Amino acid sequence: MEKTCNFCNRKKSEITFLVSGINSYICNFCIEKTYSIIHNKFDIKKKYKNYENIINVKKPKEIKKFLDQYIIGQNETKKIISVAVYNHYKKIKFLKKNEDIEIEKSNILLIGNTGTGKTLLAKSISKFLELPFTIADATTLTEAGYVGEDVESILTKLLQSVNYDINFAEKGIVFIDEIDKISKKTSNPSITRDVSGEGVQQALLKILEGSIINVPPQGGRKHPDQKMIPINTENILFIAGGTFDGLEKIISYRTNQISPISFFSKKKKYQKNFLSKIIGNDLIKFGLIPELIGRFPIITYLDPLNKNVLKKILKEPKNSLIKQYKKLFLMDKISMNISDEALDIIVDETIKLGLGARGLRYFCEKIFIDYFFNINHINENKVLNIDKNLVLKKLF
Ligand code: ADP
Repeated sequence: MEKTCNFCNRKKSEITFLVSGINSYICNFCIEKTYSIIHNKFDIKKKYKNYENIINVKKPKEIKKFLDQYIIGQNETKKIISVAVYNHYKKIKFLKKNEDIEIEKSNILLIGNTGTGKTLLAKSISKFLELPFTIADATTLTEAGYVGEDVESILTKLLQSVNYDINFAEKGIVFIDEIDKISKKTSNPSITRDVSGEGVQQALLKILEGSIINVPPQGGRKHPDQKMIPINTENILFIAGGTFDGLEKIISYRTNQISPISFFSKKKKYQKNFLSKIIGNDLIKFGLIPELIGRFPIITYLDPLNKNVLKKILKEPKNSLIKQYKKLFLMDKISMNISDEALDIIVDETIKLGLGARGLRYFCEKIFIDYFFNINHINENKVLNIDKNLVLKKLF
């Protein structure tokens, strides 16, 4: 008699192989089916573990304390982000409980000069989160049908970060960098259609506010034969960041009634307060459409970095530049010390460069590159002292 699978009754001639047990047989189809049932169960368990973490989520003060390890200063913004992330967790936690009050999400807009820590904030938060997180760049986005990327592609990265687990992606956080680069291009009247400015802003509205979005699974351009994945963005938190060059001028002009020309001479005096006085209208003047501003109920700004903060950035964060260089030397059994005066010179030059904390790395590299290149000529167990004179010699 022909052998059959004891689970599905298929005959041996209808299948690829049969595995025999003590008193029974199982075919390849039933093995595959059992495997996928078990696999799905594990996936659900994995998801469940994440929900458990949500229940044990840290309070805003603890989240801020975590951020303090990486980001110097920017206390107001760290506070705002800690609360927003905490509330986002709560929103997700109570999602299925049919509460009578629905908590709306609070997308955040971060405004600050280049190199003041916007991306660092987003990256540090992602280290802490048990939720999906991704960073998308707004510069490459264009209106559908034009060269560039579709707005929906910012959700592709989120999907990819959770291996296409839609359910999980729908509870994530997306950081949209360089959001100011999609401002209206009013300065160029020859452009008939503003495909990378207003067009993108319009397309973003739907995503930010919460609706079902068809996302291309591989990113890039949508094309007719590509199968789209529908994603509900209602519970996705969006944090956008941008430098908004020229915004300070707009605010100063409105608040102090000073002319754009005198702005430059008074800039130093007013610099610290300008962004703190921001109102929605300033952003409209800058080139954002009112509807887009409305999708960001929380607008916060980052302080410009002064000498004191820059020096702390060099030394204090968990993975500060100086700590990183010390570590690199130690790997070659060399201990490196750098004097306070030497740090002062690096900081002064960084301020002159005007790239925020990003300049610190530029000057440090200039100082250390030769030491690293000639590392085989430095004796092991040597102490390398970097002082003021050495830094002056390397930088000038
Ligand atoms: P941006 O505001 O332009 O996004 P980044 O967050 O990319 O700036 O900052 C560039 C680098 O400068 C970071 O990698 C980090 O090392 C350093 N940095 C900037 N701001 C801070 C800060 N407030 N605290 C610590 N490091 C900072």
